[in-house]
Amino acid sequence: MRRPVLAGNWKMYKTAAETTAFLKSFAPLVSKSTHAEIVICPPFVNLPAAVAAAHGTNIEVGGQDLFWLREGAYTGEISAPMLSAVGCRWVIVGHSERRQYFHESDETVLKKTQAALTAGLTPIVCVGERLEERESGATESVLRTQCAGGIAGLTQEEFARIVIAYEPVWAIGTGKTATPEIAAHAHRVLRAELALYFGEAAQSARILYGGSVKPDNVKDLMAQEEIDGALVGGASLDPASFAAIVNY
Ligand code: PEP
Repeated sequence: MRRPVLAGNWKMYKTAAETTAFLKSFAPLVSKSTHAEIVICPPFVNLPAAVAAAHGTNIEVGGQDLFWLREGAYTGEISAPMLSAVGCRWVIVGHSERRQYFHESDETVLKKTQAALTAGLTPIVCVGERLEERESGATESVLRTQCAGGIAGLTQEEFARIVIAYEPVWAIGTGKTATPEIAAHAHRVLRAELALYFGEAAQSARILYGGSVKPDNVKDLMAQEEIDGALVGGASLDPASFAAIVNY
């Protein structure tokens, strides 16, 4: 039984005051939503406000990124123990925007994933193909390469503690959602690939879909047996919209 995860990636949106206001509206809308794990990932500076406002609710808080070392002379970086100390339970790793604008590679994704696990955080490890890769028929090989260079480097015990997000880059922030069938097919490819490295444990791994998930398409996506939740960008910024997604 794979418990769904509905996670909101707020990217570079909202102030601390807006974060507190969001949670005040959002928490009552999902207080009875015990079917899933509910996570919001605000910008770093708003994590204390988010943790304080989420205290006593069924909402957990995550970072959007981390650095793989504990501490040191790495100006601007935030470590896994720091996220954990502020009250985070989750962290997004290898989001396509990090890969695109900040040159993250499968190798750094692996290091960050391991650092997150060492600090007791649950990493949401993102994979997914770009538009030109899909159009040239390379989707499956891209997913295999991302698994081989990143997730495959985990131990069996580490693998059991991660969540994976399949996010086709062409569907992120574009309003173009992968059809439920396209998404489910990619999830099957990923699960089969992960089974090569981790055997039966791949059946228990939660694979979320991300890419223009909205209240009006979440139900069809979640109806796919292969889809274990969603990583939501734009539609997670509004309390009513994200609550409608959580309560699909
Ligand atoms: C994301 O940021 O991970 C994402 C899926 O964004 P959106 O829902 O806006 O496409």
